[in-house]
Amino acid sequence: MNDQSSMIDPFGRAITYLRVSVTDRCDFRCVYCMAEDMAFLPKKDLLSLEELERLCTVFIEKGVRRLRLTGGEPLVRKNIMHLIGQLSRHLETGALDELTLTTNGSQLERFAAELSNCGVRRINVSLDTLDAEKFRAITRWGVLDRVLRGIDAAQAAGLKVKINAVALRGFNEAELPGMIRWAHGRGMDMTVIETMPLGEVDVDRTDQYLPLSELRAALEEQFTLADIPYKTGGPARYVDVAETGGRLGFITPLTHNFCESCNRVRVTCTGTLYMCLGQEDAADLRAPLRASEGNELLSRSIDEAITRKPKGHDFVIDRRTRRPAVSRHMSVTGG
Ligand code: SAM
Ligand code: SF4
Repeated sequence: MNDQSSMIDPFGRAITYLRVSVTDRCDFRCVYCMAEDMAFLPKKDLLSLEELERLCTVFIEKGVRRLRLTGGEPLVRKNIMHLIGQLSRHLETGALDELTLTTNGSQLERFAAELSNCGVRRINVSLDTLDAEKFRAITRWGVLDRVLRGIDAAQAAGLKVKINAVALRGFNEAELPGMIRWAHGRGMDMTVIETMPLGEVDVDRTDQYLPLSELRAALEEQFTLADIPYKTGGPARYVDVAETGGRLGFITPLTHNFCESCNRVRVTCTGTLYMCLGQEDAADLRAPLRASEGNELLSRSIDEAITRKPKGHDFVIDRRTRRPAVSRHMSVTGG
């Protein structure tokens, strides 16, 4: 992968990875992600698909090599396949190494084949449990069977699927070993994630928070885990699981600070650029995008924002720190 980028932050990190939240809406209401009665953005505030494409293209011209679409649920945005089709041209020219997405899987049955035709090679599917009732409880609105059919369709279309599960104390901690066996048995990598304090939700995060150091110790009672240098460009640290022959990733924003190798920035569906998932500082790219047809202003605004990329986040979850570190929900910035 090419690490050349004209976007270098004050700490010498080259920005080569862009995550774009294409919508703040979702057909689920996962309890750790959203409140049940979320207020969504008015449609007029959203960037159009054409604007999103222009924005992504400018980032690619400036050195982004990997692009991940997320949300909210990216596949519920109207005409999303049009955007994906447009962006896939950058794969054909070689300007982009990877176009991928993070999805809850609910719409995959419908879109898997088209995604594959657009050059998408792997996707992340978020799935916290294989128990239908628990799935309904954690997502509030989701139907497990539909997601499982989506995963089948994705694999049938030749997409590599990685399962992402948020580790939640008292919810799925006992089930995770079984999920690892299930995912690895189907040829899928799996990653476990710590809950992050983003946005007010209806539950107490202190009760849900399960440090992955603790989970790892528990997993080691039944699995042999060997650290490996495998990297996907994201923040996960991987181990090989001897008993299953599969790979397991740990994303530990709270127990292990991974910021030093951060190569990414995030844009929301309103064109707000966040230089760090865990900080409030942001830059508005919608105004420069709309101010002229050329990309000069936009490019300058991006450069200026990159000079403000912070060294890292300050997430904490403990009894004394009850408020979220940042007020926006994960569905705004995207996971
Ligand atoms: N809707 C898509 C999905 O669920 O995959 C994409 C967006 S979702 C916000 C991206 C990821 O963020 C999901 O894997 C989700 O489980 C995770 N997530 C949401 N809220 C979180 C939180 N507070 N802490 C940690 N992960 C969170
Ligand atoms: Fe929707 Fe994904 Fe948030 Fe769940 S985690 S509510 S699927 S955006």
